[in-house]
Amino acid sequence: MSEWQKIVGHAWAVEMLAGAIQHERIGHAYLITGPAQVGKTTLAITFAMALNCESDDARPCGTCRACTLIAAGRHPDVSMVEPMISKRGKKTLKIDMMRDLQRKLQLAAIEARHKVGIITEFDAANTNAANAFLKTLEEPPGDTVLILTATEADGLLDTIKSRCRVVGIRPIPTPQIQQALVTRWHVAADQAHLLAHLANGRLGWAVNASQDPTLIQTRLDQLSLLRDILSSNIVGRFKHADKLAKQPDQLFDLLNTWLTWWRDLVLLTHQSDRLINIDERTVLEQLKATWEDDEILASLNQTKALLWQLERNVNIRLALENLFLTFPKMAMANE
Ligand SMILES: [Zn+2]
Repeated sequence: MSEWQKIVGHAWAVEMLAGAIQHERIGHAYLITGPAQVGKTTLAITFAMALNCESDDARPCGTCRACTLIAAGRHPDVSMVEPMISKRGKKTLKIDMMRDLQRKLQLAAIEARHKVGIITEFDAANTNAANAFLKTLEEPPGDTVLILTATEADGLLDTIKSRCRVVGIRPIPTPQIQQALVTRWHVAADQAHLLAHLANGRLGWAVNASQDPTLIQTRLDQLSLLRDILSSNIVGRFKHADKLAKQPDQLFDLLNTWLTWWRDLVLLTHQSDRLINIDERTVLEQLKATWEDDEILASLNQTKALLWQLERNVNIRLALENLFLTFPKMAMANE
């Protein structure tokens, strides 16, 4: 079994990347796009392995020296650059990170057939960094293969996109995640059912959550906080805003969880089979019956807007207050 066969989903992308090697039409640069945690980096690493595997068949074998070193991130000819994360959760690829990678790629390969440079989350490159990298992309040294990953190709400079073969991947369907969790990661069936739904197409999240119970607990805490806010009066809501504004590093994850919850409320009537928070169904159904559709939609949109604002330098406390004023009121269970 080759490492390609272990990739869950993304059949088209695997076929394209494996086919490029098989037909000896390897491009100099690839751009793998898709949402967070769907498997972009796994594809990039597997491609790097396939390019350098020493086995005679079923490449990449996953067990030869090249495959093992690449999987462990210790191959001398395969470099990976990842963004730095600021306290506010903002990710940045800086110009000196690009220059450092360029220097490594300029050196002759020590043992690889193809030197490989992987840059993850290229969306996080500022214009200077992207431009600095452009030269390498235009004239990659020797048999170098560059692999970039990004959430969306649209956010990148045209000059970057046009020099890459774009491999777009999509969220993995829930049943496929569920099956993979059971067969590959030996997760119990009912747990796999829940995690596959909560994953919302992100296999990486589901696997992490199956191994680290704090991820599930964090989500429960995030939803319980949302309920606290929804059942508070204005004074209470502003207190929450003030407190949360002091923990900006947690907001991105928090708001994304809330977003799935509001999204579920919107979907509830017509597409209830697509719910993410399946363990919240009863609460969601009750709220859907008491709230107006436009209140729900406004809360969804405002949460989305705040996520967008987080990336820019907004006053977080004010933005949170705005959001909490948009939220409808939830009656307490005993009211
Ligand atoms: Zn190998």
